Amino acid sequence: MSFKDPSLFRQAALVGGAWIEADAANAIEVNNPATGEIIGRVPKLGAKETRAAIEAARVAQKTWAARTAKDRAGVLRKWFELMIENKDDLGRILTLEQGKPLAEATGEIVYGASFVEWFAEEARRIYGDLIPGHQPDKRILVMKQPIGVVAAITPWNFPNAMITRKAGPAFAAGCAMVLKPAAQTPFSAIAIAILAERAGLPKGLFSVITGSAREIGAEMTSNPVVRKLTFTGSTEVGAELYRQSAATIKKLGLELGGNAPFIVFDDADLDAAVEGALIAKFRNNGQTCVCANRIYVQDKVYDAFSDKLAKAVAKLKIGNGLDEGVILGPLIDKAALEKVEEHIADATSKGARVIQGGKRHTLGGTFYEATVLADVTQAMAVAREETFGPVAPLFRFTDEADVVEQANDTEFGLASYFYAKDLARVFRVAEALEYGMVGVNTGLISTAEAPFGGVKLSGLGREGSRYGIEEFTEIKYVCLGGV
Ligand code: ADP
Repeated sequence: MSFKDPSLFRQAALVGGAWIEADAANAIEVNNPATGEIIGRVPKLGAKETRAAIEAARVAQKTWAARTAKDRAGVLRKWFELMIENKDDLGRILTLEQGKPLAEATGEIVYGASFVEWFAEEARRIYGDLIPGHQPDKRILVMKQPIGVVAAITPWNFPNAMITRKAGPAFAAGCAMVLKPAAQTPFSAIAIAILAERAGLPKGLFSVITGSAREIGAEMTSNPVVRKLTFTGSTEVGAELYRQSAATIKKLGLELGGNAPFIVFDDADLDAAVEGALIAKFRNNGQTCVCANRIYVQDKVYDAFSDKLAKAVAKLKIGNGLDEGVILGPLIDKAALEKVEEHIADATSKGARVIQGGKRHTLGGTFYEATVLADVTQAMAVAREETFGPVAPLFRFTDEADVVEQANDTEFGLASYFYAKDLARVFRVAEALEYGMVGVNTGLISTAEAPFGGVKLSGLGREGSRYGIEEFTEIKYVCLGGV
């Protein structure tokens, strides 16, 4: 598979500092979604190994937390540097198991590493408070301490970054982490665990468990040693993990589904809006939780916008992510392909028009044409559910208040976007959108410096930014008497 450092592609899980190799009898096969070929195997582990990893994490966390923040920051900094040094190999592993084009995969490695860099810097800024006392001889101290052992469950759409933005703040704060990566994309997780070892992260502090999601999840949620569960994935599984965590009252971080509106007002810069829509809709082939799912365009600019968008979409090159110039890879699996087909069939049966794409790609497999649908209405499935594929549905609107109401008419509340120039409108709409994030005149909002997260069924908590590290700390109040 031509890696500069072939040892980064390892068919093994890391449990409490020990590597467990995959054996043919009990393994999960990982395939390349662009070709269907098996690229490797990882061990199928379960509750027993998860328990062992949690125990090792409990022990390792105590000494890790006792080190100075500067010391922890140094290890994280080294981890970040190793990720950057090895970005080509990490990107290649990511493309092989996930399908996104190599340039985009390498971009994800750099983006993912930026969270480790950011939180290495933040490690030294976990400040407490000294509050004036309520009585003359009292002082109130507030300290922030690591929450302890953290369990993480991550999805396949960002096999690297969804891990680093949890692991970065967790380790920076002095926590340990037991991770279950998605079954489709374990090798990216394993590769960064190898680099974590090389960076000097202590044994047992970070485990990567591959295997039965249900069994591993059940142990993570029921084990009282785990004090926080951080999950990125579907709302359905997030709600299940929330329920399972109730008995042990864990702190939860949930990054769940979205149904992002993307609104183009008639005072928008249309070319910029088209460019933003391309990024917000088609990045990762439409398979991100912040992907524009509903594009609302104001009456006066609807035809011009749809024409420009369809022309731009027609130019997106589809193919194997390892091939030069490819912008869109395959969908992750057959179920994803079928969902795209269902959404398009539902929309067209109710009056939507395909103005670009609209069918399986001649490459076969899980490749699908980048698609634009016009005349879409709130009655269609695309208005309610996340498509998670390369389909841009265009809705027409006339009135600002109406479009805000339609945009908010969803159980989700993760990302939202709009293009407008009028300053009063910018504030009005940004404040009225019931979302955790609003992109104004931009289709790309994710960055380590900003708090990423949603409201409503899109989840709990924030990742990235100075808020992101607080999710991995507990507040302790010390009442100091006799002063
Ligand atoms: P997606 O639709 O993105 O695959 P999922 O929520 O199904 O989203 O998967 C996200 C992560 O949750 C993956 O790592 C998956 O293996 C894991 N997962 C799925 N079901 C469960 C479960 N019952 N318990 C624990 N983890 C689960």
